[in-house]
Amino acid sequence: RQLVLTFVAISPLAFGQDASTIPTIKHSYQSDVVRLRKIVINSLYSNRDVFLRELISNANDALEKLRIVSLTEKGVWDGTSPLNVTVKAERDVTGKGGRIIITDTGIGMSGEELATNLGTLAKSGTSDFLARVEGEESSANSNLIGAFGVGFYSSFLVADKVTVASLPPKSSSNPNPVQSVFSSTADESSFEIYPDPRGNTLGHGTEITLELKADALDYLAPSNLMKLAHHHSSFSTAFPIYIWNEVE
Ligand code: ADP
Ligand code: MG
Repeated sequence: RQLVLTFVAISPLAFGQDASTIPTIKHSYQSDVVRLRKIVINSLYSNRDVFLRELISNANDALEKLRIVSLTEKGVWDGTSPLNVTVKAERDVTGKGGRIIITDTGIGMSGEELATNLGTLAKSGTSDFLARVEGEESSANSNLIGAFGVGFYSSFLVADKVTVASLPPKSSSNPNPVQSVFSSTADESSFEIYPDPRGNTLGHGTEITLELKADALDYLAPSNLMKLAHHHSSFSTAFPIYIWNEVE
C-alpha cells in the first residue's frame, strides 16, 4: 500500500478564488513579539528541534482546554470524537521543499483569538526579559530563552512561512464558528488574518502548516519526526500523537 501525499495549499489562490474577494486583515505584531521572534531565531538556531515540542505542547494544552470546557458546556465536545494530535510531513513533487502540518482537535481559536494569542505577548515581564538577553547571542542566553518558553515563535526556527487554520467548537455563545487563518512569514513584522477559503474543514481545533526553510528539510523524514516527538514529548502529553508514515 502506498500513502499518497497530496499537496494542500492554504493560499487563497490555490482554491481558484480571487484573493481580492477574501477579506484579509493585515495586523502588525506587537513590538515585543518582533523582538522575541528575532531573539528566538538568532539564539536557538542550534537548538531548533524545540519547535516540535512547543507545538505539540500547545496542541496538548488546547485538547485539555476542550476537555475541561466540555464538562460544563454541553455540545462543545460529543464525548467520543477523538482528541489527538497528528503530524504529517509533505514533500513537494520537485523535492525542493516541503511542509510539516500539525493538527489538533482541541479548543481552536477564532480570528480574533488568533490575532491576540499569536500576535501579542501576554506574559508579564517580557520587556524586561528581552532587554536582558537582547544584543548578546551567548549559549547562556539560549538556555535562558529556552527556559522562558519560546512557544509558538519557535516555528520560525524551521519555517519561513507559518499558516495556522483554526476553528473553535460550536457552543451556545458561538453557534456558527468560522474557520480562520493566521499567516505570517519569518521576516515580516506583520501577519494576516482571513476566513479560511476552504471553509470549515476542521471539526474543531487547529492546523499549523510550517513551510520549511531550505536547510530544514531533514525534518520531513517521518523517522526524524518520530524520534523528536518521542524524545521531547512522550513524558509530558496526555493525548495521543499520530505521525503519518509512508508504507510500502
Ligand atoms: P504559551 O503556550 O506559553 O501560552 P505560546 O507562544 O506557545 O505560549 O502560545 C501562545 C498562545 O496561543 C497560547 O497561550 C494559546 O492561547 C494559543 N495557542 C497556541 N497554539 C494553540 C493551539 N494549537 N490551539 C489553541 N490555541 C493555541
Ligand atoms: Mg506554548
